[in-house]
Amino acid sequence: FDSSKYIPQLRESWAAEGGDASYALLTRCFVLVSGTQSRIKIVDTLVNCVRLLIEGDPSSLLPGVWLATNAISPPYTSMELGLGGSAISKALKQVCGLDNRSLKAIYDKLGDPGDVAFEAKKKQSFTLRKPKPLTIKGVFQSLVKIAKTQGQGSGDVKQRIVDKLLQDARGGEESRYIVRTLCQHLRIGAVKTTMLIALSRAFLLSRPPGAEFPIRDAQDLAKLRKEELAEVWGRAEEIVKACFARHPDYNDLVPVLLEIGISDELLVRCGLTLHIPLRPMLGSITRDLSEMLTKLQGRAFACEYKYDGQRAQIHCDAKGTVSIFSRHLELMTDKYPDLVALVPKIRGEGVDSFIIEGEVVAVDPATGELKNFQTLTNRARKDVAIGSISIDVCLFAFDLMYLNGQPLLDRSFRERRDMLRSLFVEIPHNFTWVKSLDATSQDSEAVLEFFKSAINIKCEGIMVKILDNLPELDYQGDDTEQPLEKSVEAPPKNSKLKGKGKATPVTDKDAPIEKKSRRKALLATYEPDKRLDSWLKVKKDYNSSFETLDLIPVAAWHGQGRKAKWWSPILLAVRNEETGSLEAVCKCISGFTDAFYKANKEFYNDGEDGEPKNIHIQKPSFVEYTGGHPDVWFEPQEVWEMAFADITISPTYTAAIGLVQEDKGLSLRFPRFIKKRDDKGIEEASTSEFLAQLWRKQEAKTPAAAGNDSWV
Ligand code: ATP
Repeated sequence: FDSSKYIPQLRESWAAEGGDASYALLTRCFVLVSGTQSRIKIVDTLVNCVRLLIEGDPSSLLPGVWLATNAISPPYTSMELGLGGSAISKALKQVCGLDNRSLKAIYDKLGDPGDVAFEAKKKQSFTLRKPKPLTIKGVFQSLVKIAKTQGQGSGDVKQRIVDKLLQDARGGEESRYIVRTLCQHLRIGAVKTTMLIALSRAFLLSRPPGAEFPIRDAQDLAKLRKEELAEVWGRAEEIVKACFARHPDYNDLVPVLLEIGISDELLVRCGLTLHIPLRPMLGSITRDLSEMLTKLQGRAFACEYKYDGQRAQIHCDAKGTVSIFSRHLELMTDKYPDLVALVPKIRGEGVDSFIIEGEVVAVDPATGELKNFQTLTNRARKDVAIGSISIDVCLFAFDLMYLNGQPLLDRSFRERRDMLRSLFVEIPHNFTWVKSLDATSQDSEAVLEFFKSAINIKCEGIMVKILDNLPELDYQGDDTEQPLEKSVEAPPKNSKLKGKGKATPVTDKDAPIEKKSRRKALLATYEPDKRLDSWLKVKKDYNSSFETLDLIPVAAWHGQGRKAKWWSPILLAVRNEETGSLEAVCKCISGFTDAFYKANKEFYNDGEDGEPKNIHIQKPSFVEYTGGHPDVWFEPQEVWEMAFADITISPTYTAAIGLVQEDKGLSLRFPRFIKKRDDKGIEEASTSEFLAQLWRKQEAKTPAAAGNDSWV
């Protein structure tokens, strides 16, 4: 940690008049972060920025954290800015003295509204009044005011706040980030993903004036060996991340940090809480059943149907108040009044308060037959009146995380599941347990039959979960020294799974991580926000390719022949989490129906048939593609799930450039559109790091498969 390197640059711009931390400090931090690819520099910069706030103006830390993470409240509160793009254009015209034409010219050239604001501010030749330096608190309060202003006349009130922010923004950079903040797209993803690390380190080194909690001396830390330092950072990071995974609200976390610093007590003060959603545990992907059996060798596991619905976390307190949250922590109690009404009936004797998790699936109310995900999406999203429900659902419960005031996350899955099944009451076709089969890797035939039965009733595949914390079966391996090639066995020779893929010998490349943690990592505890091998997904369409990718459509060409009226091919991108840019990964021409093409052209319209919508003429600066000149650039806003044959090294595409080869990126062979992921925002699209991981996995399996891509 180099505390001297970045502080001077930040310190210069840190305080505004009156001693409140200036917005210039945050802007400077954003500029430094977006100007580097170095993870170390990004973390250092953020740590320094947070330290300045802790020591100099602790009351600005919480608003600063919200602004830096590009939000004003947690996802489960419905605070939205509700600003249209026109409010920003109006403000820019008024503040910078531009007319429609000149603003449009800048917009067409640059694409990103923040870059437009930067450029427009440079052209500003006069000021209407003396600008008042923006402070972090002031900007945050303005955003909250925008979000809270509703009803008649609210448009004008919001407009005045936006105008004032842009008038007071000093110079191009402050204007750029104010506008990006207003558009809710900061385009520096690294800040969001690094915030918890920055908080944990900053609170190890700094405390607010008057606070008494212990901190570490930066000089002493500098003397530590690398491993010792990693341990100190690691422990602090673990505590802060564990809190945020259980209680993802900065409004609660930051004040407690300011009061007690980094301490185990944080988890008590800011842990699992009723009516605040925890971040769900996630499953790791496996290629096929064979790989799954190999990974879980020597352990008892539960195979469960992987239903195709919507994940739901249901919280109920002792008074019977119910909250239901989505996979992405949005509140959806209003969407499922039928589930709310079900809660009193499923509570068995002695059940007081609880948090359960399950999959909500559309079903035929008479037979219980499962309907597909599409049917469920036809259900209204909000304010559903119980009498008007036309799509019935069943909750297939799979976990119990909290019971009668006690978190159960540290209990084994077998214990949690036993409690779920013994303390709650099934209601046919409305509330039941996921169908499951307990097995070990010796039971490959039974597992295959179970997998087939899941597919037969329209499930997506199976989820496989470790049942107990300690291996209860004979375990002959040695955790530390045994070479992996010996400890990993293929499924039995007569296994029917052989045709679905062979057991993969673990190569040296995988060894360092796998070797140390393979068995130890497989705990049966509920690990919020983690994707571990203790939960595995086996999907029906994985046997030939790996995963699907969630990509963002970013550009297109005019179609030829039959497709002349539409966009085809379409260019898709992954998300670089570090830089915030979108890196092109492939062009796609397959999997689309004519109806899809038509709707797509209406949505991304260059004005040839209808109003121009959602497009840019010039490449937006945050999109990386050097392989040609698309006819139109899309405003990135959708996520499409895409299948593909394999991943190739590409001189043309910039996705994951530098991650597997210095000067080449990765591309997809035979990409095929599967479906729109309306449930995902672009910040949840697949990352370049994930793509690189898939490529490494592919290479480990078939070293000869890599080749230069030339077909696209
Ligand atoms: P992820 O949720 O893992 O990030 P994703 O959104 O693409 O990825 P999937 O890969 O389809 O989702 O798989 C995970 C989802 O499967 C869960 O979030 C949950 O909604 C659903 N699911 C269905 N049945 C089960 C089950 N028995 N146990 C756990 N999850 C299940």
